[in-house]
Amino acid sequence: MDGSGTTEPAGRDNWLGSALVQLAVVVPLLAILVSSIPRHRSELTPSVAFFVAAVAVIDLIPVPGWGGLQLSLSFPVLLGVAILYEPSIAAGIAFLGSFDPRELRRGVSLLKAVWNRSQMALSILAGSAIYHRLAEPASPWTRMLPAILLAAVVAYGVNTLCVAVQTAVHRRLSVRSVLVKMHGRAPVEFLLSYLGLGMFGAVIARFYRVEGIWSVVVLLGPLVFARQMYFRSRALADRLAEQNEILAEQARKLEQLLEMEHHTIDELRELNRMKGEFVAVVSHELRTPVTALIGYAKTLQQPEFANDAAMRKEFLERMERQGDRLVRMIENLLTASRIESHQLPLSIGRVLFEDLVREVIESLAVPDARIRVSVPTDLPVIHTDRQLLSRVLANLLDNALKYSPDGPPCELGARAAGDHIVFWVQDHGIGIPPEELPRIFDRFYQVDSSSTRTFHGAGLGLSLVKDLLGHLGGSIDVESAPGTGSRFTVTLPVRIVADVSRTNVASST
Ligand code: ADP
Repeated sequence: MDGSGTTEPAGRDNWLGSALVQLAVVVPLLAILVSSIPRHRSELTPSVAFFVAAVAVIDLIPVPGWGGLQLSLSFPVLLGVAILYEPSIAAGIAFLGSFDPRELRRGVSLLKAVWNRSQMALSILAGSAIYHRLAEPASPWTRMLPAILLAAVVAYGVNTLCVAVQTAVHRRLSVRSVLVKMHGRAPVEFLLSYLGLGMFGAVIARFYRVEGIWSVVVLLGPLVFARQMYFRSRALADRLAEQNEILAEQARKLEQLLEMEHHTIDELRELNRMKGEFVAVVSHELRTPVTALIGYAKTLQQPEFANDAAMRKEFLERMERQGDRLVRMIENLLTASRIESHQLPLSIGRVLFEDLVREVIESLAVPDARIRVSVPTDLPVIHTDRQLLSRVLANLLDNALKYSPDGPPCELGARAAGDHIVFWVQDHGIGIPPEELPRIFDRFYQVDSSSTRTFHGAGLGLSLVKDLLGHLGGSIDVESAPGTGSRFTVTLPVRIVADVSRTNVASST
C-alpha cells in the first residue's frame, strides 16, 4: 500500500493540519482496538502471532526499486486475516505487522510511525467489517468471493483516501490532484491488481482453515519469490526502456549529423563546381588581355607603323592599359589566395586618403572625365594598410566603371565620421536586382555568369573587398537598383583595431 515512510519536502508544508488529520485517524482507531480486542480475547490464538510475523517478514524483505505500480504481498495476507478474524483483531494484526524498523533509522516521528500503522489497520478494519457483514470465514466460495472482492476494494479505498487527504492537507494541494498523482496514470490497473490481491486473500484464508499455518507458509514462499522476480523484471524492463530511449535519441542525433553531412557534401560539390567554373573564367579573363597584347605587339612590328609616331603611342598606351588590367587581375588572384591561406600580413602606416585616391585612379588609366572625385582636404590621416585599402578602392572603382560603360561619370566621395571615415563609390550604370544583392559578396558569384555575358570579370572583386575590409576593421554597404546604378559605401576606422578579422556586410536597395 502507499504512503508509508515518505519523505516530506521542506517549505510551506502544513505540518499542523497534517498532524490533526493523522490524530483524527490514530486516536479513534486506537480507541476501537483497545476497547474491542479484549472482548474477543478468545480469538487471540498463537496463529495471530504467526500472521503478525508473516506480514512483518513479507514487508521487510527488500524489493528491488521500481517506480511503477506497488504490488504489496502483505495486503492479500491481511485480507486473508480480515476473513479469518473478527475486524478489531484483524486490524490489530495489521497494526503490529506493519511495524517497520527502517522508520527508526530514518528518524520518522512517533506520530508519523503510528499513523502509518493506523491507516493500514483502519483499511483492514473496514475491509474485515464489510466481509463479516456479507459472509463467514467458512462460507462457500460463491459467497466468499464477492464478499472478499468488495472488502478488498473498500480496504484499498480507505487506505488511498487516508493517504490522499493527509498528503493534500500537508502539501496544501487538492485531494483530487493527489489522487490523480497517486493512481491517475493507471487507475484500472490499480483496481484490478487489488481485486486480484483480494482473491489471494481468499485463497490464503481457505488454505489456513483447511491445512493450517504450514500451508500458508508453503503458499507465501513461492509468492514472495515471484514478487521478487516480478520487481526485478519490471526494473529490468524500465532500464531497457530507458536504454531504448537513449538509443533512439542517439539515432536521432546521428540522423541529424548525417543530414548535416549531406548538406556539407552538397556545399562542397557546389564549391567544386564553382571553382571549376572559376578556372575557366579566369583562363578566359587572362587570355583576353594577353591576346590583345600580342596583337598590338605584332601590329607594331609592321613596317607601316615604323614612322607613325601617333599610332605607335596609341598602341603602346593600349598595351599599357591591357598590361595594367592583367596585373590587377593577377594581384586580385594572389590576394585571394593569401586570404585563403591566412597569409595576409598587415603593414600599418599613415595614409592620406586624398593621395591614395589619386594614385588608384592613375593606375586605372581612364579618362579624367570618367570619375568625379569629391574628397575633402581636411580628412583625418588614416592609420591602415595602404596596399590593402588601395585594392578595395581599385576594385570598387573598376566595377563602377565596368558596369556603367555609357553612363554619366562615376562618383567617389568621402567624409569624416568621428573615429571613422566613410567613402563611397557611386555609378549610374546597370544596377543590381534586389534579389542578387545578398550574394554579390560571395566568392566567384556573378549576377550574369553566362558565357555570353557582356562584362568581363571573375566574380572575385567584391568578395575580396569584403575580406580586405574585414582585415582593416571596416564594413561595406550597398544600395542599388536596376537601371539606376549602384552605390557602395565603406566605413573604415581611422585607426585600425588590432584584432579585426571580420567585416559586416549590409545591403539595401
Ligand atoms: P566581377 O569580376 O564579376 O565584377 P565582383 O565580385 O566584382 O565580380 O562582382 C560580383 C557581381 O556583382 C558582378 O558580377 C556584378 O554582376 C555585380 N556588380 C558588382 N559591382 C557592380 C556595379 N557597380 N554595378 C552593377 N553590378 C555590379
